[in-house]
Amino acid sequence: MTVGIVGAGQLGRMMALAGYPLGLDFLFLDPAERPPAAALAPVLKSDFSNSTALAALAARCEVVTIDWENVSVAALRELGRETRVSPPPAAIAAAQDRASEKRLFEKLGIPTTRWRAVSSRAQLSAAVRDIGLPGMLKTRRMGYDGKGQALLRTAADVERAWAALGQVPLLYEELVPFDMEVSVIGVRGRDGQCQVYPLNHNLHAGGILRLTRAPCDQARLNRLARKQVLAVMEHLHYVGVLTLEYFVRKGRLVANEMAPRVHNSGHWTIEGAVTSQFENHLRAILGLPLGATRARGYSAMINLIGTMPGRSDLLRQPGVHLHDYGKDARPGRKLGHLTVVEQDSARCQRRARQLMAELAPEIHIP
Ligand code: AMP
Repeated sequence: MTVGIVGAGQLGRMMALAGYPLGLDFLFLDPAERPPAAALAPVLKSDFSNSTALAALAARCEVVTIDWENVSVAALRELGRETRVSPPPAAIAAAQDRASEKRLFEKLGIPTTRWRAVSSRAQLSAAVRDIGLPGMLKTRRMGYDGKGQALLRTAADVERAWAALGQVPLLYEELVPFDMEVSVIGVRGRDGQCQVYPLNHNLHAGGILRLTRAPCDQARLNRLARKQVLAVMEHLHYVGVLTLEYFVRKGRLVANEMAPRVHNSGHWTIEGAVTSQFENHLRAILGLPLGATRARGYSAMINLIGTMPGRSDLLRQPGVHLHDYGKDARPGRKLGHLTVVEQDSARCQRRARQLMAELAPEIHIP
């Protein structure tokens, strides 16, 4: 049984690593010369919106899924006539546009940031007047890892950001003085059965995720996030893994965005949960029973960004699980991650701090 994956990055690579023990085969589609998943399975080298190449992928696969959401939804809809596409293209479309994401949250009663759509300089002025400074100006589409966004504090920032980003549709939102950031990962099967992982506590720097600690032991927030991700999955008739990212402000969840796929903040589930997010995504899209999402202790996951530390230096540390995505080093690029799992929460926190102090001393952990 072959699973087709549009995008052959590290997420696709980890899906294949989770799928081989289940007896699955994989075929990828990606325009890159040597993408991370190429070490594991064949890759059709093509642009993400090339409908001929997508059809060739579909013809050879039981189901087609994505490891990157910025693919042509029109092309995926077309594919849907020939083979199963999961998650549903409508869900991918909603997640591609920050404005439609916010509208979906509002429709489902999920609190989100105050925001305005901006497609002219006059609308930006009006949005800044309504919402105030400071705020974040973001491209509605194609933003990830802090790309395509600017923090506006002054009138001069407004001018600069408009000059840099104003060619495409934008969204302006309040800057949330959050106490922490969390995310929730849910999975829904073809038959509508659902599972939700415990809440992740995330630390970003420069818009990029650096550290996730899970489970985040806050029962009320876990209950609320669980309810919300279930509501979104139900509404979208979702199949696969879905992630919601939040700010936490004064004990309240404020939804930031969603990702219609496995997520960086869920990498700890490979070693730290009964069933990983990658395996559960495959189970869901293939119509197999879902696995338990319970944590097997307390995990810390640290992203390795920009340069890859020496393998032996990392593996010398007790209990470190290393994931090297096989990418060329480049500033700001996610090259791999490591996870430690401890039975005790305080010990896990200590280890996370020690490892971060060695690997990313410039980052302050609150
Ligand atoms: P995003 O691409 O929207 O996930 O943003 C990446 C990161 O930038 C977030 O995880 C936050 O750390 C920060 N950020 C984005 N938007 C806001 C906001 N409105 N208020 C505060 N921080 C933000």
